[in-house]
Amino acid sequence: MNVHDSEKIAGIFSESGYDQSEESKKADVIVLNTCSIRQKAEQKFYSELGRLKEAKKHNPDLKIAVAGCIAQQEGSKLFKKFPYVDFIFGPDNIDNLQKWITNNPETGKRTEALKANPSYHTKELPIKREGRVKTWVSIMYGCDNFCAYCVVPFTRGRERSRPKRDIQKEVERLASEGFKEVTLLGQNVNSYGKGLNEKTDFPDLLSLVHGIEGVERIRFVTSHPKDLSEGLITAIQKLPKVCEHIHLPLQSGSDKVLTMMNRRYIYEEYKEKIDKLREGLPGIAITTDIITGFPGESDDDFQCTMDALSDIEFDGIFAFKYSKRPNTMALSLPGHIDEEIKSERLSRVSNLQEAITYKKNKAVEGEIHEVLIESVSETDSDKLTGRTRGNKVVNFYGDERDIGRLIKVKILEAKRHSLYGERV
Ligand code: SF4
Repeated sequence: MNVHDSEKIAGIFSESGYDQSEESKKADVIVLNTCSIRQKAEQKFYSELGRLKEAKKHNPDLKIAVAGCIAQQEGSKLFKKFPYVDFIFGPDNIDNLQKWITNNPETGKRTEALKANPSYHTKELPIKREGRVKTWVSIMYGCDNFCAYCVVPFTRGRERSRPKRDIQKEVERLASEGFKEVTLLGQNVNSYGKGLNEKTDFPDLLSLVHGIEGVERIRFVTSHPKDLSEGLITAIQKLPKVCEHIHLPLQSGSDKVLTMMNRRYIYEEYKEKIDKLREGLPGIAITTDIITGFPGESDDDFQCTMDALSDIEFDGIFAFKYSKRPNTMALSLPGHIDEEIKSERLSRVSNLQEAITYKKNKAVEGEIHEVLIESVSETDSDKLTGRTRGNKVVNFYGDERDIGRLIKVKILEAKRHSLYGERV
C-alpha cells in the first residue's frame, strides 16, 4: 500500500514538472514516505531523517517533506523534533501535495496536511507506476477492524470503498496502456462495498474487472479471514482471470492470542475457511502473516502457531515479532514478552516455514505452469522472470520480447524461494 502511495506522490511531482533524482544530493525536494506498522520501519525513518539535517545545512534551499503513517501519527510533534522539515502530510492527504508544490512555499515555512479528508477515496490522482506489466489499483482505504496490535485504523482512518465506476475507469485505462495484471488493493478487500450508495460487494467488483478487455490476470490483497465468503470462492472458480492465490493473515494459531488480538475468529473457523478454499479451488496457493511474541503468548500458545503451520502448510508466510505501536489496545495488555524470546520464536517459525515452502516448491517439479513474464532476471540477464498464477517466482531462459506475455513453462527445479524452468 505504501509503495502504491509513493507512486501517487511521484505522479503528482511528475505532473508538476519535476524529475525523479537518483541522488538525494541533487534533489530540490526530498519526500520520506513512512510506514509505522512496525517499530523497525519507524527507527529506519528516524535515522534517515536525522541524516537529512546535514543535507539541509549544505543546501538551505532543500525542501523536506514527511508523508505516510508516521506523519499522521506524530503530527506537528515532528516539526518540534526536526525543525528542518517543511511539510508533513498523512496518507489520506496525498492530494494536498499538489497544492503545496503549486504554492511553492519558502523553505522553512512549515505546513501540514493531516486533517480528515472525507472525499479522498473519490479523488483521481496522477500515478507514476513502476513497471509496465503489472500494477496496483486501490479499491478502498482505511480499516474498521481495530486489531489490537495495528495502527492502521488510527493512521489511515475508517474504511471507505471507492465507487465501482471509478475503479472500472482506472482499470480500463491501465489495460489500454498495456498492463496485463492488476492487483486490487485494500486493507480488507472482502468487505468492499460497505457504505457505498450502490449495492455491491467484492465478488461483484471482481466480475466487473474481469470483463475489462486487455486485463489478463487479477489478484487482490488483503483479505480478513472473518469476511471471506463462499461468494468469493465461487467468483474465483467462475472467473478465469482471477488467480488462484489468496493471502489470508492468520497471525496466531492460539485461540487465546487471537482473542487478545481482537481478530474475531478462532483457529477452527480459520481452518474451516482454508478447507473450503482448497475444496473449491484445488491447488490454490495460500500465504499468511504470523506475529510472534504477542503480549501474553505462552510457550503453549506459540506451539499452537507452530502446529497450525504444520497443519495448513502455507505456500509462504510473512512473519514478524510483535512490536509496540502507539494508540493500539495491545500496549496496555499484560504479559509483554522479552525481545530475546520473540526473536527465538520468530526464527523457529521461519525455519519451519522454509522447509514447508521448499517441500511445496519441490512438489511442482515436472508440472507445466502459465507464467506472466515481468522482466529480465536481476541476477542473470539471459533469463526472464515471471510468476505463476499461484504467485511463485519462475526464472527461465527466454527472449526479452516476451515480457508482458503469458507463457507455458515446465518447472525443472525447485529452489528455496523460486522455481527454475524451461519454456514449453
Ligand atoms: S484488519 Fe487488522 S491488521 Fe489489517 S489493517 Fe485492519 S486493523 Fe490492521
